[in-house]
Amino acid sequence: MGSGKLIVFSAPSGSGKTTIVKHLLSATNLPLDFSISAASRQPRKGEIDGKDYYFLSVEDFKSKVAQEAFLEWEEVYQDNFYGTLKSEITRIWSEGNHVVFDIDAIGGLNIKKQFPEQTLAIFVQPPSVEEMERRLRSRATETEDKIKMRLAKSAQEFEFAEQFDTVLINDDLSVAKDEAYHKVLEFINK
Ligand code: 5GP
Repeated sequence: MGSGKLIVFSAPSGSGKTTIVKHLLSATNLPLDFSISAASRQPRKGEIDGKDYYFLSVEDFKSKVAQEAFLEWEEVYQDNFYGTLKSEITRIWSEGNHVVFDIDAIGGLNIKKQFPEQTLAIFVQPPSVEEMERRLRSRATETEDKIKMRLAKSAQEFEFAEQFDTVLINDDLSVAKDEAYHKVLEFINK
């Protein structure tokens, strides 16, 4: 496909992963761009189509699967499909940037498997399960059922941590941001 690099961030929700990813994308000296995933869930308040996700109907999502448009995809929650479009990677590489992913652990490891040399896979770990739950609840954008579903999924994500290149413990956010910055800088200059 090309020769840029792929930087995967995976984590249980409530780990602070998205904040770290946003921090890296705002660092002007890092040539990075965000892989906008396709998703079949409804946009949350404040989310923008084509910026946070490409929001697709389940039907459109499935037709892209049939067209082999995805590098990887998954039914992360029942009837909620998420996937990385091949066109995102080619778009970002052709603009001279490296690709940053904010995806779940299975998807992240799938990318690492397809591009072992080009991928840096980082797992962001919250300091504790209690803190993760507190962060998840403080978002207050979701119903109790959905929060429970996310907590169950988060517990599963931990099992994959050891397969990542690096585990970043997000105990102190500014330390974690700094560590992520240096790891990415080193990897893209390799
Ligand atoms: P959310 O609904 O909170 O935005 O995302 C739910 C989960 O789907 C998160 O764990 C997120 O990282 C994951 N996810 C988002 N985009 C993708 C993708 O393109 N592929 C995969 N495998 N997971 C994704």
